[in-house]
Amino acid sequence: MSEYKMWIGGKWADAESGKTYPVFNPVTEAEIARVPLGDKTDVDKAVEAARKAFPIWSKKSQGERFQMVMKIAAIMRENAKEIARIDTLEHGTPAGLASMIAGDLPEWFEWNAYNARSLMGNTVPQGPNELIYLQREPVGIVALITPWNLPLLMIVEKLAPALSVGNTCIIKPASINSLTALKLAELLDKVGLPPGTVNVITGPGGIVGEALASHHDVNMVAFTGSSETGKTIMGLASKTVKRLQLELGGKNPVIILDDANVNQVAESMVGRQTFNCGQICASPGRYYIHEKIYDEFLEKFTTGMKKVVVGDPNDETTQMGPLVSAEHRNRVEAYVKSAVVEGAKVILGGKRPTIPPGNKGYYFEPTIITNVTQKMKVAREEIFGPVAIIMEKFNSDDKVIEMANDNVYGLAAYIFTQDAARGMRFANELQAGTIQIGRTPARDQDVPWGGFKESGIGKEHSVVGLYEYTDLKRIQVDLTLRK
Ligand code: NAD
Repeated sequence: MSEYKMWIGGKWADAESGKTYPVFNPVTEAEIARVPLGDKTDVDKAVEAARKAFPIWSKKSQGERFQMVMKIAAIMRENAKEIARIDTLEHGTPAGLASMIAGDLPEWFEWNAYNARSLMGNTVPQGPNELIYLQREPVGIVALITPWNLPLLMIVEKLAPALSVGNTCIIKPASINSLTALKLAELLDKVGLPPGTVNVITGPGGIVGEALASHHDVNMVAFTGSSETGKTIMGLASKTVKRLQLELGGKNPVIILDDANVNQVAESMVGRQTFNCGQICASPGRYYIHEKIYDEFLEKFTTGMKKVVVGDPNDETTQMGPLVSAEHRNRVEAYVKSAVVEGAKVILGGKRPTIPPGNKGYYFEPTIITNVTQKMKVAREEIFGPVAIIMEKFNSDDKVIEMANDNVYGLAAYIFTQDAARGMRFANELQAGTIQIGRTPARDQDVPWGGFKESGIGKEHSVVGLYEYTDLKRIQVDLTLRK
């Protein structure tokens, strides 16, 4: 078992209190590491380090920052295998998926390093004796608070743009799986960033996260996590009017119209529902299936879900590993029970499978629940597991749009049809930040990502996302001024 330290001001540090807490392997349920239990004192130290580093990092030329961020990309590429190994160890990500994610991480740094070089200001036309220009500047000290579901990717998506435009950062990874974040710190330590440019503090959200969100010297919180925590952070951050960027939960409708290619949709939804064991913000949340194809879809989808290979994520044939923790499995299980109590039917799964050897691990079967109505808890709340929620069949486009929009979330929506114009009409009416017509979403650098309604504020990715980490300064000069 390994003992880890936090990274503050370019140095490895225990928590000031000396306390640590355990990290568990979701496959073996064994304690695999202990990490420092940070608190407000450690947050104060990290903020002080980031504050000291800010004038150094922000005043570097864009070209110098570019070189440094490209070095980060390079060292992450050299260490992709090790990053993937830790991801599987602490999160249970199937090895193939973990390698794919780790292999993509360097590109997030490269994309942002390049694009930060082309962020230009503006001049505003005025009379001959006046100049007004707008200059983009880094926001300052940014706290990155991230979830456990894609532990390192969620950090990198924020760190790459924040650093590239000159902010200094404090990373607060998910408390249950912080090891990839500490591996990132180890790599950053080697590239020669000015001390304090990036800091990593481990510990519970209610203590470390809240201390960051309320700290008067933190200028921005970039947060990915649940909507409930997002609301708490908004409240705390309001005291000092911090910039907020919030990527929150979803309950994403999947609308399958009568002209959809049922085979294709069933196959792609099996993959999507069980991807990362359903622990994805854009996972299918509620299926609305047209009455003409309802039976055919359900039969094909069920056949596909039965074939998903659940098991040890280190095994090459495994398609779906365990859920992240015992606590989260209890939560998913409780949702399934609530559906039954409210009158829905579990037609597949709904239980813990037996996975040899030893029947250990936080596994949960691919599950399908039918006969779900709009008011049921499983139709309204995010489950975050391999549980497909099949709503009652529909026969009217207008009615299904109304039902799809009848939810507090607005992250993603999927429409399956062979008629592009019909799909685009849905796209115009659906209240979600990401609309997928005939395909599943991909998080890529080129396209903005972010939710409507209680799914978030602001956008990540693309130059729109890069702007979120800058502020616009207006400078007005009287050109008649002379000494
Ligand atoms: P969470 O809200 O429980 O935790 C997220 C982070 O916030 C963790 O680091 C946690 O320690 C911290 N935190 C917890 N309480 C806090 C508090 N009171 N103050 C400050 N910080 C606090 O979320 P989770 O369970 O780790 O992640 C799952 C959620 O993340 C789901 O709702 C999912 O939809 C969402 N998510 C959204 C996106 C997106 O792009 N919209 C992407 C991934 C995950």
